[in-house]
Amino acid sequence: MEHPENNEEYKGLTVNSGVEQPSIVNPYLKRMRVKRRELSAAEMVEGILKGNVTVLSQAVTLVESVNPEHQKKAQEVIDKCLPYSGNSVRIGISGVPGAGKSTSIDAFGVHVLDRFGGKLAVLAIDPSSERSKGSILGDKTRMEKLALRKESFIRPSPTAGSLGGVARKTRETIILCEAAGYDKIFVETVGVGQSETACHSMVDFFLLIQLAGTGDELQGIKRGIMEISDGIIINKCDGTNVDKCQMAATNFRNALHFFPAPDSGWLPKVLCYSGFYGLGIKEVWDMVYEYIDFVKANGYFDYRRKEQSKYWMYESINEHLRNSFYNNALVGQSIADAERAVLCGEKTSFAAAADLLDLYFGSLKK
Ligand code: GDP
Repeated sequence: MEHPENNEEYKGLTVNSGVEQPSIVNPYLKRMRVKRRELSAAEMVEGILKGNVTVLSQAVTLVESVNPEHQKKAQEVIDKCLPYSGNSVRIGISGVPGAGKSTSIDAFGVHVLDRFGGKLAVLAIDPSSERSKGSILGDKTRMEKLALRKESFIRPSPTAGSLGGVARKTRETIILCEAAGYDKIFVETVGVGQSETACHSMVDFFLLIQLAGTGDELQGIKRGIMEISDGIIINKCDGTNVDKCQMAATNFRNALHFFPAPDSGWLPKVLCYSGFYGLGIKEVWDMVYEYIDFVKANGYFDYRRKEQSKYWMYESINEHLRNSFYNNALVGQSIADAERAVLCGEKTSFAAAADLLDLYFGSLKK
């Protein structure tokens, strides 16, 4: 039997002209492929001062880079932006995962922009993102309404390095954002571990998001973090949860009585709200701005910022020394042996440390 495709009448393999195709789907593609010329530090500063978001993002990327050349350029940009910074209200927002930080920041951000105008930058300190190779905080998709506002700049946490390093980068990013005209800065942090302390050292008001019924308020587990909080807000005060939240608020208020009076002279407040349903948001921001007015009037606002600058000077020195030590070639060659000697009891920790430090300081003299 003859194969049907051998029949002259068979049209299956005939190529017909199809729909006319455009030469290129995206006419701008070629233009986009052109490698962007790298901006000089002065050009970056100029762009930042004009509020150019693309340039600001590039500068933040530079700040976050571990490349020494980038770091040098970043420092130049930061130095030049410094005189234009400081003119903002910086708010730290902390809470355990699931407390509702993203939901609340979305609601808070839209509220403050609608109510006070201006521009808002949302930054984060999340050292755990180092492990996940990508920030779990500051993700734009979790702040959907705010991400749509052109007055907002949302940036995930820097990912590389120690908590101190991550926090320093966030602090430097604050400077760039302020120079770019962001007059409200939110710094988000996970309420587990040490990152709250780092966050506290760069904000004017530290807001702690709590949930009812976690037992924290009764057991005082989070004593340290409660002590540094200027306001404690209990989220998810909606539906059947309202009574529980109000009871938790009373417990927190009682617990706060046992803490020493803060230097600011401000007695931390405890409020209930619902980030998801948008209930009680105005009251939270009445409190924050009442505090800002209060501490600006009594001088504590300036005092706290100066103390923070001092703290960051020492932090920078510590970090620089630590990096210099651990990146030292001689130390690098000997540190594994020293660790082994300590583990098998050949040397005490102190002797091993002293030997390594001798090696380090010795290498500096050469
Ligand atoms: P984060 O991990 O602290 O950033 O918390 P999320 O903002 O992602 O919220 C964690 C979960 O709590 C989500 O399922 C939210 O929808 C829910 N949630 C957040 N705020 C509220 C609230 O005010 N009320 C209620 N009922 N649920 C909320």
